[in-house]
Amino acid sequence: MMENNKEQSQAQRQGKLCRRCKLSYDPSSNTRSSCRFHPSFFVCRRHDDQKRYYELGPNDPPYAAKFYDCCGAENPNAIGCTTDVHVSYDDD
Ligand SMILES: [Zn+2]
Ligand SMILES: [Zn+2]
Repeated sequence: MMENNKEQSQAQRQGKLCRRCKLSYDPSSNTRSSCRFHPSFFVCRRHDDQKRYYELGPNDPPYAAKFYDCCGAENPNAIGCTTDVHVSYDDD
């Protein structure tokens, strides 16, 4: 899409765009604590024995829990539980 191309060239002028956290960053100050992210996916399923993260209501189906598989955060916008270096779209 045109929009994406525009965003990407903008990010390249300012620095690189991280494909993990979607933030632009300066490659010269990219350290192992620069990028905050969740190593696992946001899933929708039963919590199993991790009920402490989510209390199901009496009318909720047992699979209604939504959370990050890595840390149990229920908010899709929750700040990452892991840090590492940013990874650009050029790296692989
Ligand atoms: Zn997490
Ligand atoms: Zn990042």
